[in-house]
Amino acid sequence: MEEKIFSDIEYNEYLNEETLMGSKCKKCNTLFTPPRPICIDCYGTDMEWIKMKGTGKLAAFTCIYVGPHFMIEEGFDRKHPYCIGVIELDEGTKVDARIEGVDPTKPETIKVGMPLVVKYLHREKEGEKLTYLAFEPA
Ligand SMILES: [Zn+2]
Repeated sequence: MEEKIFSDIEYNEYLNEETLMGSKCKKCNTLFTPPRPICIDCYGTDMEWIKMKGTGKLAAFTCIYVGPHFMIEEGFDRKHPYCIGVIELDEGTKVDARIEGVDPTKPETIKVGMPLVVKYLHREKEGEKLTYLAFEPA
């Protein structure tokens, strides 16, 4: 039998194909996004890939003015902040991602509870395809 490995590499390959995946514990049905190889509820290791719908709502957010190096390279700085949020997916799990299509210079206009839909940001770094998970207002 083929062993299923829940690695970041596989998760990223799904993201490259614009598919958001989670893992589901076959023993207790708990869902995880991003996928986990081991269930933190029952410590079960029998997990399966589950395709997420990619819709949810904003649970929390922060606007970042001084980001890590790879964000500075994308042009974000004190004058051009960006927004990071926690999204509660319709399936009930939470995932961290960039929030696009909002104005991070006006955080008062960004509302907790606003409906969001997944967006895939494709980048290339040293010839390697990378996809960042993002969400935007639905
Ligand atoms: Zn479990």
